Amino acid sequence: PSPVDPHAFPDEQAAESALRPGSLAEFRGQPRVADQLGLVLDASKHRGTVPDHVLLSGPPGLGKTTLAMIIASEMGAPIRISSGPAIQHAGDLAAILSGLVEGEVFFLDEIHRMSRPAEELLYLAMEDFRVDVIVGKGPGATAIPLEIPPFTLVGATTRAGLLPGPLRDRFGFTAQLDFYETPAIEHILVRSAGVLGIQLRPEAAAEIARRSRGTPRIANRLLRRVRDYAQVKADGRVTEPIARAALELYEVDELGLDRLDRGVLEAVCKRFGGGPVGLSTLAISVGEEAETVEEVAEPFLVRQGFLMRTQRGRVATEAGWRHLGLTPPTSGAP
Ligand code: ADP
Repeated sequence: PSPVDPHAFPDEQAAESALRPGSLAEFRGQPRVADQLGLVLDASKHRGTVPDHVLLSGPPGLGKTTLAMIIASEMGAPIRISSGPAIQHAGDLAAILSGLVEGEVFFLDEIHRMSRPAEELLYLAMEDFRVDVIVGKGPGATAIPLEIPPFTLVGATTRAGLLPGPLRDRFGFTAQLDFYETPAIEHILVRSAGVLGIQLRPEAAAEIARRSRGTPRIANRLLRRVRDYAQVKADGRVTEPIARAALELYEVDELGLDRLDRGVLEAVCKRFGGGPVGLSTLAISVGEEAETVEEVAEPFLVRQGFLMRTQRGRVATEAGWRHLGLTPPTSGAP
């Protein structure tokens, strides 16, 4: 997998959990979200009630899972973790909900991918702390209401707009996580290096931060790869030249574009004359799944101002042409 793919790799869990900040005070880079959430938690502590349900939205790797864990630890509550796609049937959800203890935080990742019946069950649980257990089948089936202890649902989604309105409305607090500024990523890198016992020079931290796409997960991952390089090729200390050489080896360029990103941009420019070209054609021409191109490469290219998604297809911008060292066609490119 690409080092700049913001999604979590299956074998990455242990490495990530070691680097998660444990409190709101340590959660850097999203000051507004941290302040607002801190207030929600303090108020509920003050009242002795469970905090309102929380909806976190934003691209992968920005700290949604981390925040859910922080909410639990700030409240001194246990946490239960699941995800929309893992809940096939409403019964699966009913089983989880009825097993919660009072005050527990229930983190539901990719909440927009839950099945409809599960979603409806969740409405009731969020609002009334109750689930209806259906007993029997057909006309003789009856719903037996079952009380569940008050809990806090923390839902995560890549885009809040993907959620049906009625579900969105049941959250008392909604926060949109944004890409991090480079200095915040630097700060996170310095902290991670401390946790991992890596000697990281400030210029090297700045270099890695610039190439991390504003995403803590990618920053931490690049730090681990750069450490590998420093240990094998040098004395283990991460200096700026070491960081540069390692990132070059992993094909991450000065702006954080990797091979896939450049491949996509190059295909649009060189093979399709700058576009417009449709997603599936583009994906085939770079030998990738359309989903990967759309979810991993494109958002970053669009954010960098290198690519536009138009109704007729993908179009390279003038900046996109120039980033590849190519001259944009005089008439066409916007
Ligand atoms: P998401 O759930 O949004 O995909 P995660 O919460 O799993 O993202 O975060 C991915 C990685 O980035 C974790 O290892 C976490 O420690 C790190 N991380 C995320 N946000 C922060 C932050 N504000 N400060 C420090 N590390 C962070």
